[in-house]
Amino acid sequence: MQRITVLGATGSIGVSTLDVVARHPGRYAVYALSAHSRVEELAAQCVQFRPARAVVGTAAAAERLAALLRAAGVKTEVEWGEQALCSIASAPEVDSVMAAIVGAAGLAPTLAAARAGKKILLANKEALVMSGQLFMDAVHESGAVLLPIDSEHNAIFQSMPQFGGRVPAVREQAAGVAKILLTASGGPFLTRDVATLDAVTPEQACKHPNWSMGRKISVDSATMMNKGLEVIEAHWLFGAPADQIEVVIHPQSVIHSMVSYVDGSVLAQLGNPDMRTPIAHALAYPERIASGVAQLDLTQIATLQFEKPDFTRFPCLALAFDALRAGGTAPALLNAANEVAVQAFLDRKIGFRQIDRVIAQVVDTLPHGAAHSIDAVLAQDAAARAAAQACIAGLAA
Ligand code: NAD
Ligand code: MG
Repeated sequence: MQRITVLGATGSIGVSTLDVVARHPGRYAVYALSAHSRVEELAAQCVQFRPARAVVGTAAAAERLAALLRAAGVKTEVEWGEQALCSIASAPEVDSVMAAIVGAAGLAPTLAAARAGKKILLANKEALVMSGQLFMDAVHESGAVLLPIDSEHNAIFQSMPQFGGRVPAVREQAAGVAKILLTASGGPFLTRDVATLDAVTPEQACKHPNWSMGRKISVDSATMMNKGLEVIEAHWLFGAPADQIEVVIHPQSVIHSMVSYVDGSVLAQLGNPDMRTPIAHALAYPERIASGVAQLDLTQIATLQFEKPDFTRFPCLALAFDALRAGGTAPALLNAANEVAVQAFLDRKIGFRQIDRVIAQVVDTLPHGAAHSIDAVLAQDAAARAAAQACIAGLAA
């Protein structure tokens, strides 16, 4: 029996994770669940999965959850705040941690799981983008097992069988690999007239052609910052320098990514675009379990297309490559500015094309430094958030 903590249980990835878990009751038990504010959803999950512990964002949310659970006769212990999140991610009772909180808020608990040597199912790419080397060092020092949930990185991992089930990471430099081919759907605005992008609404940006996801990652997909963050994620997971990572637009989202080897072989992982496939893969690894995803019918899809990305249409992709090449805390600056800009766009304070302008201004004006400690990273994160807020206030004035 594998005992699991799901961080971000009420989100898109969290719900898909519990869907797979529910299909295999003899195999997985839920130790703890977390949610930020969706207390009713979390209460329903507690009724179904009976975790020992549940964590929410505030004391008020904890009170509401405790009342709901009392009324339902559920004995789950209710806690709140970051320390409690770190505790459910590192408790001795836990085998595996699904890291599915969105954004920088997931860094501390994901890092706590890494330091405690857990099996980490990593969806929260922002945590790795921010803390890169420090996070990978924590994984190596504790002997934690890191399995990528992001569909592209899960596909790359599956296409690198020579590493014996461990992400190769920077120190080993993926031997024999010529290129990592990171596929991207191009999002909802791949072919839209660039001149009209200023006027798109949050609803249009969140309407992804192939995937159903949380709002932040949906906007990231529309700007292609999501692919930029994934380039940085691939760098840390697979030991690939920026020049070895190529983004390929593939609008059907059937090939989830590929690895091109020096002998001319290209390995790929294919499947219907449903996150339950990489989730089931990582949950059961190295075995295989049913995920609820329909088998791929290639004759139905008939055509697979590929093209090069247009960096002028998607300036966020270029900004991410620049941050990776700059190194140090530059990716943390990029990530923080992006989180603030995306939220401002979702709140209708700035237009879609101002997202990349805010990020560019923050990374151009704030000096980045060495990422020698988590405190240094968090200080840069805070500075970038303040700079992005100031920039947004300036745009609105
Ligand atoms: P979501 O917005 O649907 O869910 C986010 C979860 O995080 C929720 O449970 C929410 O309660 C929790 N949360 C939000 N803010 C928090 C805070 N400040 N403190 C603690 N918890 C907080 O997001 P999602 O789409 O499920 O994405 C989660 C992560 O997985 C992101 O990092 C995303 O990039 C990554 N990811 C998602 C997908 C996808 O298909 N949705 C695919 C690949 C990677
Ligand atoms: Mg992805």
